[in-house]
Amino acid sequence: MSAPVSGPSPDRPLLFRNGLVLTMDDTHRVLPGTDVLVVGERIAEIGVGLAVPDGAIEIDASGGILMPGMIDTHRHMWQTAMRGYGADWTLTQYFVWYYLESGKLFRPEDIYAGNLLAAIEAIDAGVTTTVDWSHGLQSTDHADAAVDALREVPGRFVLAYGNIQQGPWEWSTSPQFRDFVERRFHSRDDMLGLQLAFDVTGDPAFPERAAFEVARELDLPVTTHAGVWGATNDDGIRLMHENGFMTPSTVYVHAATLTNDSYHRIAATGGSVSVSTESEQSAGQGYPPTWALCHHDIPVSLSMDTSVWWSGDLFSAMRTTLGADRSREHLEAHARADTVTHCRLRAEQVVDWATRGGSRALGLDDVVGSVATGRKADLVLIKNDRSPVMFPILNPYGHVAFQAQRGDVHSVVVNGRLVKHDHQLLGVDLAKARRHVEQTIDHLVGEMGAEAWAKGMNPDIPETKIQENPYTYTEWDAGSAQWKH
Ligand SMILES: [Zn+2]
Repeated sequence: MSAPVSGPSPDRPLLFRNGLVLTMDDTHRVLPGTDVLVVGERIAEIGVGLAVPDGAIEIDASGGILMPGMIDTHRHMWQTAMRGYGADWTLTQYFVWYYLESGKLFRPEDIYAGNLLAAIEAIDAGVTTTVDWSHGLQSTDHADAAVDALREVPGRFVLAYGNIQQGPWEWSTSPQFRDFVERRFHSRDDMLGLQLAFDVTGDPAFPERAAFEVARELDLPVTTHAGVWGATNDDGIRLMHENGFMTPSTVYVHAATLTNDSYHRIAATGGSVSVSTESEQSAGQGYPPTWALCHHDIPVSLSMDTSVWWSGDLFSAMRTTLGADRSREHLEAHARADTVTHCRLRAEQVVDWATRGGSRALGLDDVVGSVATGRKADLVLIKNDRSPVMFPILNPYGHVAFQAQRGDVHSVVVNGRLVKHDHQLLGVDLAKARRHVEQTIDHLVGEMGAEAWAKGMNPDIPETKIQENPYTYTEWDAGSAQWKH
C-alpha cells in the first residue's frame, strides 16, 4: 500500500505514476504514461504499471512532465540577500558596488543569509544542483558560513570558492584556506563539491599561476569569468593555455567577447562554457554566445549568475537562451539579405543544456542529469492541474522551455529525498531565511546610510536624445474628428 505524503521521508520509496518522462539520456528518450520508482538515493526502475513497494509515497504524475533536476553552473548565491536591488544596473555599477565600495560590508552571517535563501529558491524552482560562485569570501569564517547554509538545505551544491577582495594568488595560498579545505572537505561527497573561482586579468606576469597550481595540487576544477567585455579577454585564455592550465573540468563563464582563437583553445582542451543569457543581455558582458559556441562545438551549460538582478530560475535561462540565439541567427541572415526558414537551435537542446550540460560540466554525468536506472534521483515534476498552460502538452521540450515556469514545479526530489511536493517545500525553514535576510538588509542600510542605499539602487538615467522627425507632429481633435496641425 502507498502511504500519504507527510514531510521529508528519506527512507520511503517514491513512485511517480503515469508521467511524461523526459529521460535526457544519451538518446533523449521521451516516455509517455511512464512510472519512475526511487528507492534510497537512486532511481530503481522506469516502466509502465510498476508495483508499489510497501510504504512507498505514490505521486500522481499524470498531466505532468517528469525530468531530471536542473543544474545551474554559476550563481553568486551570497548576493541573493539583495534580491532585485540591481535590476537597473550595468556591469560597471555592479563592479563599483560589490568590488570597490560595499562588498566589504558583508559579514559571515550575511553570506549565510544570502546562501540560505538562494539555496531554498533553487530547489523550489526544480534546480537540484547549483554552483555557488562564492566570490564574497573575505575570510574563511565567511566560507564556513557559506557551507553551513548549503549543508542546511536539501539540495546538491558545489562551492566555487572565491574572494574578490584579494588576488587569487593571495587567498588560495593562505594557510587559512588550506585549513578550511581540510576541515570542510576532508571527505568529498556528491552533495557538496568544491571548485576554485577566480578571474584571469590578462596581466602578462600571470600572477594567477599560483592559484592554478593550488587547484592542480588539490585536484579542484577552476571556474572563471572569461570573455567579459572590458574585464577579461583573449589574453587571459591565452595565458591559461600557454601555461597548461586549461583542462576538461574548467568552466568558462560568459565567454561572450572572445575571438575564434580563444574558442579554439577552449574546444581543444575540452572545457565548457556556462552561458548566463539574461545576465549577458542586461549587464553587458557581450552577446550571449551560444551561436558561437555551437559553431566551435564547445559544450554549454546554463546559469542565472546573480539574484541581485535575476531569479535563480532556469526556465528563464532556457527561454532567453533560445530567444537570444534565434535573434542573432535572424539578424545575421538579414545582414546578408537572407531569411532563416529553419531555426538551428531547438527547444530540446536548451533542455539538454539545463540538465546534461550541467552534469557534464561538473563531472557529475554518471551521477545526475538524466532519468536513468542507477542514477542518483534528482527529479522535477512539472505539473499544475490548476493552470490553463499545462495542456495540451504536444511538444514536451517546447513546453518546458516556453510554457512552463517555476510556479508549475509540483514536486522535486534530490538524492532520493522528496524536498517539494504538491507545490509545497518540505523540511525547509523559509521563515528563518527571511529573518536572516532582514538582518543583512538592516546591517547594509545601517552601514551605508539610507540615502546611499537608495542611490545605489537607482542609478542616474542618461538623457535620451529623441531623433529629429521629418514629419509634422499632429494631434487628433476628437470634437471635430480631424487632425489638428
Ligand atoms: Zn558571475
